[in-house]
Amino acid sequence: MRTITLIIIHCSAVKPNQQSSAADIDRWHRARGFTRGIGYHYVIRRDGSIEPGRPEEIIGAHCQGHNKYSIGVCYEGGLDLNGKPADTRTDAQKRSLRALLTDLRKSYPSSLIISHHDLNPGKACPCFDAAQEYADIR
Ligand SMILES: [Zn+2]
Repeated sequence: MRTITLIIIHCSAVKPNQQSSAADIDRWHRARGFTRGIGYHYVIRRDGSIEPGRPEEIIGAHCQGHNKYSIGVCYEGGLDLNGKPADTRTDAQKRSLRALLTDLRKSYPSSLIISHHDLNPGKACPCFDAAQEYADIR
């Protein structure tokens, strides 16, 4: 089994009028040359449904230099209608994210939940402070 020390939160960087299912992201990532397809392990849709991406035991492709020991979780959204970074999470997404992260922390008790931008400050992703919001998940 992989050793997981980080759970990294992402957004899919789509506008409110754009969809990004796990299948969509799988296509986009294959088009970018990811031969294993979708780089995230989970995608949270606007309706709160949790779609599986890469199996947890397979190394993801979502945060350069940190994939080996991390799980990548992506919510659908992250941009406003003008394409500016924004926390667009719906209440359903917030509930599902928290439930998924609670489960993942049980599977990987020594992991930290952080935002993509914590590791790559040049990015806005995921457009909110995941480490602060989920600091209570133990
Ligand atoms: Zn990201």
